[in-house]
Amino acid sequence: MNAEEIREQIDSAITKAGRKDKIFFAAVSKTRTVDEMKEAEKISWVDYFGENRVQEAESKRNVYGESRIPWRLIGHLQANKARKAAEIFDTIDSIDTPELAQRLNRIAGELGKIIPVLIEVNTSGEESKSGVEPANLSPLLDAVMTQENLRLEGFMTVGPITDDEREIRNAFAALRTLSENARTRTGLELPTLSMGMSGDFELAVLEGSTLIRIGTLLFGPRDYGNH
Ligand SMILES: *Cc1c(COP(=O)(O)O)cnc(C)c1O
Repeated sequence: MNAEEIREQIDSAITKAGRKDKIFFAAVSKTRTVDEMKEAEKISWVDYFGENRVQEAESKRNVYGESRIPWRLIGHLQANKARKAAEIFDTIDSIDTPELAQRLNRIAGELGKIIPVLIEVNTSGEESKSGVEPANLSPLLDAVMTQENLRLEGFMTVGPITDDEREIRNAFAALRTLSENARTRTGLELPTLSMGMSGDFELAVLEGSTLIRIGTLLFGPRDYGNH
C-alpha cells in the first residue's frame, strides 16, 4: 500500500471519529532495513520510528546518520538493556515496573538527560502481553512521576488479538479511562495515548488514540527469516 492510501485511511478514521486534534504516526520499523526507513522518513506525516528490540535499533542507528524523526522504543525493555536503550532512543514507551523506572532514572541522570517515557498497560489480560496490570498501575504511576530524570507523557497498550471489535474497543477505552484518571490524580498533562496498529488503528482513533503505530500497512508483511 502506498503512503497516500494509508493517509486516506487514517484521515477517514479521524473524520469518522469526529476528531480535530493531531494524531501522531509512528512508522514501526522493526525488521526493516535502513534503506526502507530512509524512504519512510521522506513521508512528511511520519512523526516517529518505532523499534521493539534494543540491539536491532542500535545496529541501525549506528549507520543511519542524521534522522529528522525521533526513535521510540515500543517493545519490552529488559533491565540489562536499559543503559543501551537510554543512549539510543529518544522516548521509551514500555515502562512496566517501578524497578525499571528507577534504573532508567539513574542512568538518565548519569547521561545528563531527561527521558520522555510512557507506561505500558496490559489492557487485554492476555498472558503473553507485556505491560503493567491495570490493578498495579497506581504504585507504578507514583514511582514514575517521582523520578526526576524521567518525563511521563502518557500510556501505551497493544490491543487484544481477536476479531471481536467490541473487545478491542473495550481495551482501548480502558486505556483512555486509566489515562483520564491518572491526569486527575497527578495533575500532569499526560497527552500521549499510544494505541492502534495496522489491524486496529481505526478503532483506536475512535477511542481517543493520539499516537498510532503502523508497520505492516506501511512496509508490507514482516519477514522474520533474517532476524
Ligand atoms: C510490531 C508492532 C506494531 C506494528 O504492528 P503492525 O501490525 O505491523 O502495524 C505496533 N506496536 C507494537 C508494540 C509492535 O510490536
